[in-house]
Amino acid sequence: MADSKRTKNRCSFCGRTEEEVQFLITGLNGCICDSCVTQAYEITQEALKARKGTETTKLNLAELPKPMEIKAFLDQYVIGQDAAKRFLSVSVYNHYKRLLQKDAGDDVEIEKSNIIMVGSTGTGKTLLARTIAKLLHVPFTIVDATVLTEAGYVGEDIESILTRLLQVADYNVAEAERGIVFIDEIDKIARKGDNPSITRDVSGEGVQQGLLKLLEGSIVNVPPQGGRKHPDQKMIPVNTKDILFICGGAFDGIEKKIAQRLNTHVVGYNAVRNTAAVDRGNLMQYIAPQDLKAFGLIPEIIGRLPVLTYLQPLDRSALRAILTEPKNSIVKQYIKLFAMDGVELSFDEDVLEYIVDKAIEFKLGARGLRSIVETIMMDAMFEVPSENKKSLTVTLAYAKAQLEKANVARLQNS
Ligand code: ADP
Repeated sequence: MADSKRTKNRCSFCGRTEEEVQFLITGLNGCICDSCVTQAYEITQEALKARKGTETTKLNLAELPKPMEIKAFLDQYVIGQDAAKRFLSVSVYNHYKRLLQKDAGDDVEIEKSNIIMVGSTGTGKTLLARTIAKLLHVPFTIVDATVLTEAGYVGEDIESILTRLLQVADYNVAEAERGIVFIDEIDKIARKGDNPSITRDVSGEGVQQGLLKLLEGSIVNVPPQGGRKHPDQKMIPVNTKDILFICGGAFDGIEKKIAQRLNTHVVGYNAVRNTAAVDRGNLMQYIAPQDLKAFGLIPEIIGRLPVLTYLQPLDRSALRAILTEPKNSIVKQYIKLFAMDGVELSFDEDVLEYIVDKAIEFKLGARGLRSIVETIMMDAMFEVPSENKKSLTVTLAYAKAQLEKANVARLQNS
């Protein structure tokens, strides 16, 4: 009885019986086999792709996150850096508004405001960019300026910046043309010397000139696979007019330029008041476009990055907060790792303080936190999965012993 019923089941598309296929899905009035499912999937993907090539997702202002909501989202993952968060939230929101206004064919054209974020390494520039990407309704990519060189030299051509954006947009050019690009380490393409004509500055001014073209808004021929252009490659023209660029860089040593500028300004009868107000410990907060110029960015580039914001150096309390507070904080990640083995992991409070002390001592900023925790937990991560433990508490004595042991091992190896 059961057998005769089974043989009746056939794929409604190809007619094969249940025995002839690997898997048959039964629906209300018919069945479909595994190979027809695969084929149907491929057909729909092709059709959707063909349709999507020129279409862009419709944005709706009412549904888009407002600047305050964007900032609140960033707050869950990034500690402090309020100024940068506000600038970023507003820029992203305005980017949406500009796209909407363009769709509406309005007369008043809102121009884009590309952003530049300055802050020492490990203060959260890339983290901000990555976090905002989770929330965006347009294609987004992060590229590294260090690999870029002037056309004709070893390295990647400037246009390759847009290749990644195209890939993220699934080669939908219209969609990529409304995207956002985060260019990391923009300071690495600063002009090295004061006189660029003596030696050719392959990774400096030439690259900046190339980048300027993208920032200004022009039609750029992008190599679909990235890397270097070669003559037989078919290029994809991309208009960068509506692409929002966010740049980030550590600008090591820019404080000196800021100090110089502040000193030269404190002349005249206002001098005493000005010097008193300057917080020498954190000069970065006074950053102005002319400091970027003194650092080696060409004025045209600076002009195309009208929003300048900075990230605070992370102090002790910020580092302590980074360990436990963000949604996916380092400590939470380790607790999760151990929980997967059925072990409840906890850290004594003084251990967390000790980790922060060490990070400050090693001068690694937030980047150091992870490697310190990793060193402390390495032995436990090796042993615990094979043991029958239900809980593990990391004490100060244990943490100290683990770090010292690792340091001794390193010294012996060197
Ligand atoms: P940057 O790009 O400024 O050099 P990153 O954003 O790459 O620094 O930061 C390195 C790591 O340090 C991040 O992955 C994150 O774990 C941590 N971190 C840095 N700054 C913060 C911050 N403000 N809040 C939370 N975590 C941070």
